[in-house]
Amino acid sequence: MKKTVLVTGGTGYVASWLVKELLEDGHNVRITVRDQSKTANYSHLLAVEKNSTGSLQVYQANLLREGSFDEAVDGCEYVFHTASPFFISGFRDARVDLIKPAQEGTRNVLGSVNKFDSVRRVILTSSAVAIFGDNADMDGKPAFTERDWNTTSSVTHQPYSYSKTIAEKEAWELAEKQDRWDLITINPTFVLGPSLAKRTDSTSIATILDLLKGKYKTGVPRLVNGVVDVRDVAKAHKLAAFMNTASGRFLLSNEEATLLDMAKVLEKNFPKLYPLPKWEVPKPLIWLLAPKIGLTRPYVSKNVGIPAKFDHSKSVRELGMTYRSLETTLIDQKEQMDEDGLI
Ligand code: NAP
Repeated sequence: MKKTVLVTGGTGYVASWLVKELLEDGHNVRITVRDQSKTANYSHLLAVEKNSTGSLQVYQANLLREGSFDEAVDGCEYVFHTASPFFISGFRDARVDLIKPAQEGTRNVLGSVNKFDSVRRVILTSSAVAIFGDNADMDGKPAFTERDWNTTSSVTHQPYSYSKTIAEKEAWELAEKQDRWDLITINPTFVLGPSLAKRTDSTSIATILDLLKGKYKTGVPRLVNGVVDVRDVAKAHKLAAFMNTASGRFLLSNEEATLLDMAKVLEKNFPKLYPLPKWEVPKPLIWLLAPKIGLTRPYVSKNVGIPAKFDHSKSVRELGMTYRSLETTLIDQKEQMDEDGLI
């Protein structure tokens, strides 16, 4: 049945695929953007709307402005809150650039949700980094699961992970204070795969562009990440919203891979086309060079060369999720970048 839903930050890398799914299923989809006059940022969604049975409405809202989501939330049954800054590096002040918009943004969106009786469910795009801080947090366990919480990140150590952890905690606290709407969180590991827009400012897109353009050709640190396809992340949001039995947190991850694993997959499928890295730099050298390459030494100590595993079984069991392979994800992402003239 046709629903009225809101996707905050609807033009983002992950959100765009979710908006596409919802429009193609015929829903009335509202999105928020920070600047409605930047139509180029959502022209790809207007194009999807044209070939779908759904409808798209664009609202302007800012995470930092209380009440700014009121108009967009009023009348919606489902609110997907995806908007949040995603930067691992390159920010000036972690409190201002990451933590404030993540935490206050969640408070403001849920404040609007509390004002309007129409809302039944909120689906928050959290992250696997609200589950763990460093790979060293594995600490002998077989895998991270939805039962784990990140207790090791702070304003100075892994601030993005900290921003996602406190934002998700705040959401659970606000959800528990009332009983009209329920909360589900989606906790993806590193999201990769094709983008619906030509924007390159998402960290997920920039990482693969950097890899293909030779930024790491002299070697990469051995960093094990969980990886999941952006289209699977979008699908999980939709399943979690409309399945009455869904509840709690959902950790999404397909498989674990290092940057070198990804480079090998790309080299196998597109031999000799790109200046991809061929080896890993030893950890002691990475530790020494850390400040020069934008890493901190505590980060290197607690992550480089340390394995991590992610258990996605709850998403399979309760949502019926299936996952694309890393190979499919990377081939499709490389092809989209090629078609859009990015590489
Ligand atoms: P993205 O493409 O950079 O999208 C981020 C979105 O947040 C953009 O739509 C942006 O809006 C919005 N936003 C940022 N600051 C805002 C503000 N002050 N007010 C209003 N909107 C604001 O990032 P993404 O990779 O799709 O990430 C989407 C969500 O998934 C985030 O919550 C992120 O933490 C989470 N996540 C991502 C990954 C990943 O690997 N990509 C993994 C786990 C979780 P504008 O269009 O106006 O700039």
